[in-house]
Parts: sequence; C-alpha cells; structure tokens
Amino acid sequence: MTIRYLEAPDVKRLVDEIADSLDFFHVVHQFVYCYRSVGSKSKHVIARIYGLGKIWQEALRKPPIYVIEVISEHYDKLSDEEKEKTLIHELLHIPKGFSGGFRPHKGYISRKRIEKLHQLLLKRRTTNLKV
Ligand SMILES: [Zn+2]
Repeated sequence: MTIRYLEAPDVKRLVDEIADSLDFFHVVHQFVYCYRSVGSKSKHVIARIYGLGKIWQEALRKPPIYVIEVISEHYDKLSDEEKEKTLIHELLHIPKGFSGGFRPHKGYISRKRIEKLHQLLLKRRTTNLKV
C-alpha cells in the first residue's frame, strides 16, 4: 500500500489552539500545515514534523514552513489528551526563531515538560470557558 497524505483540518485547529493557549508566539500559524498520512509503514511513530530548511527557502523563495504529519493508524486511536500531548511534542521542535530548523529532544523535549504544558493547556481552557 502506498502512503497517502490528506489535509487534516482537525489537527490544524488543535495545533493552532495549543500554540495560542500556550503562548507560543513564535509559531506563525499560516506557515504551519497539518497532514494525516494513511498507509505509513512506521510501527511506532505517531507524528512527525518537517521543516523547510534554509537552502529550500532560498531556492524556492519561500519563508520557513513547517508541516506536522500525524500517522492515521496510530494517532487517530489516541485519546484527546494523548493527541494534545503528541501535538505539543511536535510544536516544541519548532525553535523560537521559526527558522525552518528544529530543536532537538535532548535537554528540551521531555515527558515532564510536555505534561506541564498539557496541564497549563487544560487550565487555560477552563479559564477561557464562556458560559
Ligand atoms: Zn520529537
């Protein structure tokens, strides 16, 4: 089976909401695209992020762009909470400069940091609830 990529507006909405709620001001919404892949052979990967690196920006005359891909077979069966944590993880790979490059896991992306940010997300959601 070949891999297919479908635009994922549900993922995009969630990514935008997370970035807003967690004050990730460096994340430029219009240059973050979200896709869902179907038919990936990846056994353990739930999601990944791609960046348009500097040389591509130059050659294509494009600004830095990121694509977040969720792997349908793994992502779709997760609970909402796990989906949110997955997307927080991917967003943490985007460096403050929104350069098209990545921040590595080491020393930055950890279970603990993701848990903490997720708690904050839940808290801010409740606070923002309009009755
Ligand atoms: Zn990662």
